[in-house]
This record gives sequence, structure tokens and C-alpha cells, in this order.
Amino acid sequence: MINSRRKFLLISAAGAATLSLNKFANAQAMVGETEPQAVALHYKADTTKVDQAKYPKHAATQRCDNCALYQTKGAAAGACSLFAGKQVAASGWCSAWVKK
Ligand code: SF4
Repeated sequence: MINSRRKFLLISAAGAATLSLNKFANAQAMVGETEPQAVALHYKADTTKVDQAKYPKHAATQRCDNCALYQTKGAAAGACSLFAGKQVAASGWCSAWVKK
């Protein structure tokens, strides 16, 4: 039989491990194109897939990794100040793109 102190320690350790995994998972989460904010900003994970007729000011050279709001260097994905807690693709694009 597990005494209450040991039981408390086991539950605490399990809780800490879960929190740690959740934090890691959230840090790695990518913005999905169907998420409400992504839809509102017309985000695409691949700038070459943007509908040029719909967004005539878009150019294939416009990418998240050369946008002023992209906060990461030298990575396939990074943080964007418009999508807190998630990552956007370096090769992505949205209608808020601003030249770095
Ligand atoms: S604001 Fe810039 S970095 Fe953020 S999703 Fe749009 S294009 Fe990418």
C-alpha cells in the first residue's frame, strides 16, 4: 500500500512531467492554415501556394523569414508577433507581410 506522502510525490512528479511535455508541445506547435486567425490573415505555410489573383500585391519573394514580424533567424519555422505561442513556416506568408 502506498502511503499518502509517497502518493503525493508520485502525483506531483506525474503532473510536473505532463506540464513539461505540454510546454514543449506548445513551443513546437505550428499555425494551421484553418485556424481562425490564420484564415483572417490569409496565412499559407507555403508562399508559392498563395492565390495571386486574390492577393495581387503578393509576390513569391515575400516569405515569413523576410517579414518584419518574423522573430527567428535561420530556422524552417519561427515565431511571428501575430501568432503568439505558435510558429509559422519560414516559407509562409500572410496578408500582414511587411518587408524586413
Ligand atoms: S506577419 Fe509576417 S511572419 Fe507573420 S505570418 Fe504574416 S508574413 Fe509570416
